[in-house]
Amino acid sequence: MSFAELGLSAELLRAVDAQGYTQPTPIQAQAIPAVLSGRDVLAGAQTGTGKTAAFTLPMLQHLTQSKTPGRLPRALVLTPTRELAAQVGESVRTYGQHLPLRALQIFGGVGMGQQTTQLRRGVDILVATPGRLLDHVGQGNLDLSKIELLVLDEADRMLDMGFIHDIRRVLRLLPGERQNLLFSATYSREIEQLATGLLRNPQRIEVARRNTAAETVSQLAYPIAREHKRALLSHLIRTGGWDQVLVFTRTKHGANRLAQQLERDGITAAAIHGNKSQGARTRALADFKSGAVRTLVATDIAARGLDIDRLPYVVNFELPNVAEDYVHRIGRTGRAGAEGAAVSLVSPDERGLLAGIERLLGRRVQSQPIVGFSDLPATAAGEASEAEHDRRRQAPAGRKHHPRPRVEGRDSGRGDAKPHARPRGRKASGGRSRPRATV
Ligand code: AMP
Repeated sequence: MSFAELGLSAELLRAVDAQGYTQPTPIQAQAIPAVLSGRDVLAGAQTGTGKTAAFTLPMLQHLTQSKTPGRLPRALVLTPTRELAAQVGESVRTYGQHLPLRALQIFGGVGMGQQTTQLRRGVDILVATPGRLLDHVGQGNLDLSKIELLVLDEADRMLDMGFIHDIRRVLRLLPGERQNLLFSATYSREIEQLATGLLRNPQRIEVARRNTAAETVSQLAYPIAREHKRALLSHLIRTGGWDQVLVFTRTKHGANRLAQQLERDGITAAAIHGNKSQGARTRALADFKSGAVRTLVATDIAARGLDIDRLPYVVNFELPNVAEDYVHRIGRTGRAGAEGAAVSLVSPDERGLLAGIERLLGRRVQSQPIVGFSDLPATAAGEASEAEHDRRRQAPAGRKHHPRPRVEGRDSGRGDAKPHARPRGRKASGGRSRPRATV
């Protein structure tokens, strides 16, 4: 099956070809003809399946063919986060580079002024987060009465984030006659309800089994006392030659602290979370993508939808409380067929969370102790919070409770379990010097 067989125009085929895509992914093979035929679509697809192109390509084709005059937006893509809006917007521009269509991203965290100016100039496609979109409607900057095609991207996450009322408000502003596409990584009763109210006789497309992790991702758990996690992470990054690692923490504060600690260990790192300004988040992501920063430490919400080509390593520094978030997290790696490794550092108090994740996955995650780390006893601070542990470590009396891990270098000659080797075909970091993180 080729893209040409799906009925896409020459301009779109050129753009797809320039991306180096040789054949459509399964979601693209099914969704593109369905959308082109004008049907509503309900698609179960995770990030990494090629879902963005699955709705963007036929959307662009529809817009070039539709004859509606004027410069009011005719397609609207709603996304849960700014990052995802930015990435979808980028995809729209990439795939639409040979078409005379204008796209605009609308999200919060940046001034309204520039978005307003561009709206006045006229746009064909809006990619927006619901809140900021409604702000523009409220200020009279935006008329949604000519929308012909609506896409809800990562609808499950939008509901998780409490956007249902905003979504319903947006729906009331749209004309009744339109095509609707709903993309969701998981299905819940709420998603089914939303779909029932929104979609007319939809074509259902399911490409990945529900809640299953991408099959190209190898998953491993390292048992480790909480207070030794940071040392183990630095060790894994160094000895494994990991040169692009996305690390998840549960809290914004934890993300900041870990990024600083890694920097102190000589590993370039940046943190990305909701308390950072949009500029800082964009910069951190750009530095991570370019290799200027080796480690990006993120919270779940900030990392949602991040599109980083062939991300080789994802580390769960702390397991998420919600098992589904584990699937979302590891979905950042092994994308579109590329290999990837997902590593979880599991402290004794997180064993229950791991068991919940295994139940959701329907299989065990291999647990691999690392000599020199996993056999370190938890200190008196073992089950304490990391902040408390940091305090104890700084206090002279606490030092004797904090044995220094025997960091196993490659040349130590020990026969301990090797950290995840670099996926095949990736080049080593080669020790190239990188500027320090700017955020
Ligand atoms: P998405 O699921 O939309 O986030 O896409 C995941 C990644 O797959 C992106 O980096 C795309 O550039 C890439 N991709 C999308 N379609 C294809 C394709 N047909 N062949 C190879 N890579 C693709």
